[in-house]
Amino acid sequence: METDTHPLTRQAALARLEDFVPLAGAAYASGRNLDHGAGRHDAVSRLSAAIARRVVSEREVLAPVLARHGDQAQAFVREVFWRSYFKGWLESRPQIWQHWLGALDRIDARLAQDDAFAARHMAAIRGETGIDCFDHWMHELAATGYLHNWARMQVASIWIFTLDLPWELGARHFLSSLIDGDAASNTLSWRWVAGLHTPGKAYLADATRIARMTGGRFAPTGLATRARIPDGPPHPAAAPAREVAAPAPDAPTMVWITPEDCALETEPELAAMPVVAIAVIDAGTRADRIATDDALARAAAHWRVPACRVAGPEALAARAVEAGARQVATGRIAVGHRLDSLIAVRGALRRSAIALAEHDRAWDRAIRPHATRGFFALRDHLPNLLALAGLEPPQ
Ligand SMILES: Cc1cc2nc3c(=O)[nH]c(=O)nc-3n(C[C@H](O)[C@H](O)[C@H](O)COP(=O)(O)OP(=O)(O)OC[C@H]3O[C@@H](n4cnc5c(N)ncnc54)[C@H](O)[C@@H]3O)c2cc1C
Repeated sequence: METDTHPLTRQAALARLEDFVPLAGAAYASGRNLDHGAGRHDAVSRLSAAIARRVVSEREVLAPVLARHGDQAQAFVREVFWRSYFKGWLESRPQIWQHWLGALDRIDARLAQDDAFAARHMAAIRGETGIDCFDHWMHELAATGYLHNWARMQVASIWIFTLDLPWELGARHFLSSLIDGDAASNTLSWRWVAGLHTPGKAYLADATRIARMTGGRFAPTGLATRARIPDGPPHPAAAPAREVAAPAPDAPTMVWITPEDCALETEPELAAMPVVAIAVIDAGTRADRIATDDALARAAAHWRVPACRVAGPEALAARAVEAGARQVATGRIAVGHRLDSLIAVRGALRRSAIALAEHDRAWDRAIRPHATRGFFALRDHLPNLLALAGLEPPQ
């Protein structure tokens, strides 16, 4: 895992952003799809691990890019909005996440019984399929925790249409291997490639295009020439996102930092709250630990109160009681594994008569209502959404 090239601390992420800003205009628009290979992904920001954990926010990333490039920033702005779009879309259809978990249970049962299927799956994960680009990218993913967006599209497409493996298994492998692993962007990107997000429209990898976009580094053979879209139920109707209780501004508060939002102290609504303690539950990946360690230190310096790691939900509640908190405030937990485990925290806090409050960022609140259909429906609102965030829209 290359944490120095995929920053996880705020200082490193802001430094990376500053270096990248000059490249985020026309150079990004023309070069962002070219995969130059591991260690040479300089045409893209490599900020996803930080953005996914809100070490830096979408707004913070877009502000200097728009200020420097104006309408030349359109391509970069659009990509950042893809992230917000997927996040909003999954909030309006959490069943898609639950269906995915249910499908994995069924596929795991098949893996346990069907040796040939299990062997094909293992060969894909290990990068031993004989398809040069695919094997290379799977090794790159294992070694670095990162793949260029365009490479992710090729890998997912080959996984589904050439190797004939369930998209659900590929999504699980990516989510656990990527340093920027994110429930919404990952699950919905896999579904997009499979032809399940935009019904009937799949992404088919093409050998000639792969050779061209990788500067001739690969010449894959035997790729599927037809996309057989997997079966799947139609999209459930969009529903309003889960309601959360906002932090009460005057209550003695323990801030609970999760990898969902690692810069709560930068939020104006929270910055002046009467915070009595700060805590992180020990869980997650090594990257989560680096990001939350940095977040703990920043929060402690901002609110000038003790900050610690605790073992689990019960210890979190005990720490809040000990510190005299009346509420625990955290960043809004989006649909995904962390939301699935929120129930244990909620129960522990309830038993200690401590309220749980989730801070919903203005950015997410503004975008969510426009993210329930296709991306193009959201795109029409970009100028207004940027203006709402105090940013100058590209012309
Ligand atoms: C199959 C597949 C799985 C993916 N899984 C994830 C994932 O788990 N986590 C994740 O953050 N992204 C995921 N993506 C989206 C995209 O590949 C990464 O966000 C991007 O490659 C990160 O590199 P970067 O920061 O250099 O991006 P840049 O090109 O510099 O883009 C800037 C930011 O915009 C956002 N972004 C860019 N492209 C996309 C996109 N296509 N979809 C959504 N957001 C985007 C990211 O936050 C990114 O940091 C996936 C894409 C595919 C095709």
